[in-house]
Amino acid sequence: MSACFDFPDLSAAEVETMLRARAAPPPEPGIIPRPEYPYPLRHLLAGTVRYRCPHDCGWWHDELPDMEQPGPLVFPADPTPADITQAITTAANARHDAYRARVECVLTEHFDAAHEGRPTPNEGER
Ligand SMILES: [Zn+2]
Repeated sequence: MSACFDFPDLSAAEVETMLRARAAPPPEPGIIPRPEYPYPLRHLLAGTVRYRCPHDCGWWHDELPDMEQPGPLVFPADPTPADITQAITTAANARHDAYRARVECVLTEHFDAAHEGRPTPNEGER
């Protein structure tokens, strides 16, 4: 195997947990509308996630998730595979929370500015 793929000896469950932690989960329901992916693969802006205003005013907000810096991984000096898995999960959750908070903030600012803070059409149904 190539040195590029020199992974620690982890169980299948640990690898699965790590892969799940690395995949950015989609935003949870709330004021965040269903995302769109406006650019195809190999496009300069591929990976852009677009959130259109649910009030059909034509406004949208674009996010470039891959441009985010990964947070620091914090684990003991002699970490076990479980410590590493936990550190990766914690960092992924922090990135997800920051992403969600940022998108919600931008949407709320737009709703306040353009729609008098009017809630999204599906708000209150949950
Ligand atoms: Zn709008």
